[in-house]
Amino acid sequence: MFGSPIDYDTPLFRPPSESESLLVQVTLGCSHNKCTYCGMYRTKKYLERPIEKVVEEIKSARKWFDKMGHYPRKAFLCDGDALNAPTENLFKAVREIKKYFPEIVRVGVYATAQNMLDKSEDELKELCDAGLGIVYLGLESGSDKVLKLIVKGNTRDDMIKGSLKIKEAGFKISMIVMLGVAGRELSKEHCSETAEVVKIVRPDFLSFLTTTVIPDSPYDRMIKKGKISPLTHRELLVEMRDILCGIEGMDGARSIFRANHVSNQFPLSGILPRDIPKLLLTLDGWISKCPEGTYPEMDYRML
Ligand code: SF4
Repeated sequence: MFGSPIDYDTPLFRPPSESESLLVQVTLGCSHNKCTYCGMYRTKKYLERPIEKVVEEIKSARKWFDKMGHYPRKAFLCDGDALNAPTENLFKAVREIKKYFPEIVRVGVYATAQNMLDKSEDELKELCDAGLGIVYLGLESGSDKVLKLIVKGNTRDDMIKGSLKIKEAGFKISMIVMLGVAGRELSKEHCSETAEVVKIVRPDFLSFLTTTVIPDSPYDRMIKKGKISPLTHRELLVEMRDILCGIEGMDGARSIFRANHVSNQFPLSGILPRDIPKLLLTLDGWISKCPEGTYPEMDYRML
């Protein structure tokens, strides 16, 4: 495949599992845009795009795929928290996607806990019935101290309430956890409280990313000021182990687990909680062989 069906406003991001999806920009940027570690939308001002323009793009994308002779099976609404868009715009976008791409079986969207809390239960149910089927939530951490540290904009309670609300409306939820984000100082709390939130929400999908420090971001500056101590390779593995250990008692759930993002040095996958004993064995093997004191990113001791 070459070219692009739509003239996107870049930079453009989507979850790894949406790499083959039709991307539709309902919003630009992120309505929060304050998380200290995130540089994705620093260059963009949050904007809800005119829905007529979005519909035009969906129509022209259809023509493009007709020429290519194959069609996407999934669609994803961008940018960073497109669930924040007015409900009627989301309806229209999903309906038009379904109309012009009957091959599409699932439409996904990034959301913050705030977006989920701001929509009524009826709105969420109607959006789900219309075909918006999966929400990707950056939980990052289940610890209020960590969420405050990284200026996530929502508390642990918001994360739980928003996630349970979206599940109740019929959505699947994919939760993202950030390894290392709490630094060495809050690592233990990050692991135990994140595992607790995961056990309460029981997400359909759970993924681990490793915190990547963006030079000169607020997060980077906190590291340089000594407020956050980055984790070594070995400590990151221990975090992965501790969170999985904490999830062991998640009875009656079946979460698809992935820790194979490009940021992760040690890829893992499985079904939770079923595969936890096997995953822990693998992690124990890696931890025993991992040298002390090596860092995945810049070596901050040198600064
Ligand atoms: S909510 Fe997501 S997109 Fe927005 S600033 Fe935070 S991490 Fe970045």
